[in-house]
Amino acid sequence: MSRPRILIVGAGFAGYQTARTLARLTRQKADITLLNPTDHFLYLPLLPQVAAGVLEPRRITVSLPGTLPRVRLVLGEADADGIDLDARTVRYTDPEGESGTLGYDRLVLAVGSVNKLLPVPGVAENAHGFRGLPEALYHRDHVIRQVELAAAADDPKSCAARCTFVVVGAGYTGTEVAAQGQLLTDALVRKQPLREGIRPRWLLLDTAPRILPQLDEKLARTADRVLRERGVDVRTGTSVKEATPGGVLLSDGEFVESRTLVWCVGVRPDPLVESIGQPLERGRLIVDPFLQVPGRPEVFACGDAAAVPDLNKPGEFTGMTAQHAWRQGNVAARNVAASLGICSRRAYRHRDLGFVVDLGGVKAAANPLGVSLSGPLAGAVTRGYHLAAMPGNRVRVAADWLLDAVLPRQGVQLGLVRSWSVPLDTASPELARMPDDGRKPPGHVPKQSPRRAAEQSTPSEGES
Ligand SMILES: Cc1cc2nc3c(=O)[nH]c(=O)nc-3n(C[C@H](O)[C@H](O)[C@H](O)COP(=O)(O)OP(=O)(O)OC[C@H]3O[C@@H](n4cnc5c(N)ncnc54)[C@H](O)[C@@H]3O)c2cc1C
Repeated sequence: MSRPRILIVGAGFAGYQTARTLARLTRQKADITLLNPTDHFLYLPLLPQVAAGVLEPRRITVSLPGTLPRVRLVLGEADADGIDLDARTVRYTDPEGESGTLGYDRLVLAVGSVNKLLPVPGVAENAHGFRGLPEALYHRDHVIRQVELAAAADDPKSCAARCTFVVVGAGYTGTEVAAQGQLLTDALVRKQPLREGIRPRWLLLDTAPRILPQLDEKLARTADRVLRERGVDVRTGTSVKEATPGGVLLSDGEFVESRTLVWCVGVRPDPLVESIGQPLERGRLIVDPFLQVPGRPEVFACGDAAAVPDLNKPGEFTGMTAQHAWRQGNVAARNVAASLGICSRRAYRHRDLGFVVDLGGVKAAANPLGVSLSGPLAGAVTRGYHLAAMPGNRVRVAADWLLDAVLPRQGVQLGLVRSWSVPLDTASPELARMPDDGRKPPGHVPKQSPRRAAEQSTPSEGES
């Protein structure tokens, strides 16, 4: 009898952990295939440290073939209309533009999320998101370049504009980007001073009345205090009315001259899950507490792309966090194995274990198991948490942290990722857009979607 075929689409927190747990549970009694556009798992919570030049980009990646030896990796992206639930197949496009089709007996959808857009004039053209490695690398180079250009500028107006950085959305991503950014630019101008009286200025905006609106209030207060002490201009109750190449018009009527707009207003589920025609909850695929799609017992979904009932808060769905995605990966694996008669199934239930927000330097805000921490103790807990949570590459990450503590930050921009290759509106934030090299087969439609989901109101980790 042939072995059952399990296909996992997406190798982020949920998909990686599904594959890892399934390989252990099935002990080669099933063929496990992982379809992912890159050959690595990306530890997203450390992305702001890549943008700030604390960590080298490869540190926060974990090789899929290197750590999942009993799982077959297929490099590629499931096509937007490529999932056929009746035929039990997934069509995909590989990194060189070739198409392929994978069959399955069990399917796990773990495709995560992409940048959330809002219909604000000029934002799609002038802002960049912060959801993948290419965007973090672009951001790092761009910020360093702005400081270098500002230091050489004769005109004080242009110098000030280049050294003004606007971050929209004070969820954990925007808060960390602004906190780390201020430290990076302060370090850069110590080496190449700006015109007298000008200091790099970071603005952090959110429509909510406080930063980190979805996290514990005490933790948010700690983060707010650290940011303000550092000089970050925190503006709550404020949003962007219009973005232009020369600056940003705020909702209070002020025009801030700037060349940098970082869009961290949150994320929306990967549009792939819309395409399969099953019920959605604000863009997320609805599953039952066993992570199965109702009426399709062979299809499972988990992570940001799935609306998983929160059994601890009846009527609600679990948040879009790495903690949930990772643990849902465990449960999805177990329930896939259960559907093959290997073990018993179990519902997803998980209590909040607290949150950590790295604010750069030795500072952080954390509330592990509900205990509020700040200062260097929170910093140590936060870094310890990340090391424990990473499925690999821990020694290299720790080595970079050590080097950053004893050596000056390397303020060098390589300029390898250009602005046009990381558009805000993309369904593939993990890949930098390439100029069309003519190798794409006729009829191949790049995954960068039209602005179809721009107006969608979806759950997010930041403000809206
Ligand atoms: C900058 C940043 C910082 C964050 N910090 C924290 C934090 O501190 N704590 C926390 O709890 N959460 C944090 N999050 C949120 C957390 O990272 C997400 O909730 C988590 O990654 C969701 O896991 P996932 O597996 O659903 O999706 P992801 O981890 O995004 O993985 C999705 C995978 O699917 C792949 N994929 C997408 N489309 C396709 C396709 N068509 N075909 C094949 N593969 C596809 C992607 O390449 C990716 O590998 C952060 C997010 C960001 C962006």
